[in-house]
Amino acid sequence: MKAKTGHRFTNWAKNQQCTPGSYYQPTTEQEITDVLARHSKIRMVGSGHSWSDICLADEAMLNLDNYNRILHIDKEKLQVTAQAGIKLWQLNEELDKHGLALSNLGSIAKQSLAGAISTGTHGTGIGHQILGAQVEQFTLIKPDGEKQLLHREKDKELFNLCLVNLGCLGVVSEMTLNVIPAFQLQDHTFLMKYDDAVNHVEEMLHEHDHLKMWWFPHTDKMVVYTYNRTTETRNDSRLRQWFFDELLSVHMYRLLLGVGSLNRDWRKPINQMLVKNFERPLQRIEKSYKVFNVPEPPLHRETEWAFDIKHARALLPEYKKLINHGPHRLNFIQEIRFTKADNFALSPCYQRDSVWLGAYNADNFRWNELLHDFEQLAIRYNGRPHWGKEFTVGANYLSVEYLQYGPFAQLRQTLDPTGKLMNAYIQKLLG
Ligand SMILES: Cc1cc2nc3c(=O)[nH]c(=O)nc-3n(C[C@H](O)[C@H](O)[C@H](O)COP(=O)(O)OP(=O)(O)OC[C@H]3O[C@@H](n4cnc5c(N)ncnc54)[C@H](O)[C@@H]3O)c2cc1C
Repeated sequence: MKAKTGHRFTNWAKNQQCTPGSYYQPTTEQEITDVLARHSKIRMVGSGHSWSDICLADEAMLNLDNYNRILHIDKEKLQVTAQAGIKLWQLNEELDKHGLALSNLGSIAKQSLAGAISTGTHGTGIGHQILGAQVEQFTLIKPDGEKQLLHREKDKELFNLCLVNLGCLGVVSEMTLNVIPAFQLQDHTFLMKYDDAVNHVEEMLHEHDHLKMWWFPHTDKMVVYTYNRTTETRNDSRLRQWFFDELLSVHMYRLLLGVGSLNRDWRKPINQMLVKNFERPLQRIEKSYKVFNVPEPPLHRETEWAFDIKHARALLPEYKKLINHGPHRLNFIQEIRFTKADNFALSPCYQRDSVWLGAYNADNFRWNELLHDFEQLAIRYNGRPHWGKEFTVGANYLSVEYLQYGPFAQLRQTLDPTGKLMNAYIQKLLG
């Protein structure tokens, strides 16, 4: 297949760019294999929704936007097989037409299926593992062009090593996911005092199917989102969706971020004003994927780490102190989520139930200092960074905190001895 030249890649957050010599958008598996054979250096890119430099390539870049078809839906086995370039939103809509759904999702659905799973993308709910846990099997086209099918039970050890793969083991080509009958969620969103939310976090986690919290920095309030499965009728109104999800959450929020960038001291009152929008608790029932996904956030910088859930009660107050009493004036919502332990080698939740915590800001001003300060806290609590977000720790730290780092690095070396799929990011992480 013919390469496109001069293609400029910019990620969603606009903090990473490159112009690879060749850019490919194959439509068949044969084309993927041909492209792999043609280059000595190549990286895959999904929707470019990672903040980190994970996708950057000099020589060649491979994108599967045109390799995105649903291949089979098995309503009896409750499984869907799709080409790996499909976007999560396409998958959600197609599944819904067949009365099916993914059991858990992250905050948005713009990512490609392979891209989301390769970095360990997660949603929230202590009974739910990262999104990749829904994968039954997938095919990997290895750097030497050989195709391998990996099944979660039959090839357990290798499957667990390869699921979160950072795009450095091969090209994920087709994926079969376990799905469930379409379902509805009752969303009850309300305000709590920050400290009360922290003190009650364990009980809330076990009371609800999904729990997440939003903290508007420099306020003492937490917005608590609880989602529970229900068979009751949907009742979310179009007017509420337009007013809250579009006018307030998208347009008004962007306007206020702009106002707050004129003077950083205005951020506290702005955040206090924003939090007032949540004073009236929200009760709504909607299709699951519409509840999991939130309106597209404004451009922002982001780091996010997973910590052992047992640290939540100590970590959350320290985090608040760091942000409220440090030099930083943050304008963006800080998100706190939860995920169940798993056995995937490079999953940040490997063998521990986790609380996710990060630093988010829609302002580049002193971002590196904020990242540094947050990392100091994260390191003290043995955090594991999200591979698709920003972080500065390298192989020394990661090889200690990721307990399966050694076997993964060894497998990468075996599958890709010449470093065909390596870039600076993989080099730094895996040494
Ligand atoms: C607005 C926004 C909201 C987000 N919300 C969440 C969230 O709720 N939860 C969460 O955990 N993360 C979230 N993220 C992060 C995001 O889910 C991850 O960074 C994800 O990896 C991005 O998917 P992508 O398709 O854009 O992949 P890319 O960023 O393009 O690529 C990610 C990795 O996948 C690899 N890759 C892509 N295609 C293939 C393939 N076919 N075979 C092998 N490797 C491949 C790439 O080489 C790279 O290593 C969010 C990001 C944004 C911008």
